[in-house]
Amino acid sequence: MDDAVSVELAQRLREELPTLLDAGAVAGADAVLADIVERGRRGERVTVPLLTYVRGVPALRQRAGELVPADGQRGVHPPPGVARVPLAPRYVCPNGDYEYFRIDVARPVPTCPHDGADLVADGAAA
Ligand SMILES: [Zn+2]
Repeated sequence: MDDAVSVELAQRLREELPTLLDAGAVAGADAVLADIVERGRRGERVTVPLLTYVRGVPALRQRAGELVPADGQRGVHPPPGVARVPLAPRYVCPNGDYEYFRIDVARPVPTCPHDGADLVADGAAA
């Protein structure tokens, strides 16, 4: 996985921390990920530190696995300075309890892990 992908993943995880972690754990995790984003944007190698950290936090490890395909080679390179570029088409559970970002189009869209419903493309005509 290259470092540009790592920076984007770290930024995405930061944005989702409030939904991934207990309130008391968010600030500490945000500080770690913010540091990784900063260093990555300065050109430092951040993939190993990011993955090492994420692997130690089960909720982050699971979400990172959903955001990045197993081969780790695909990635999106947004223009510098754009903070909120969608990583990939978003799919949501019709019951509103799950979302999935489809980074790798070769990988089938999963069903909702909570209730097994088929995910639908966000923004598609209802
Ligand atoms: Zn669901």
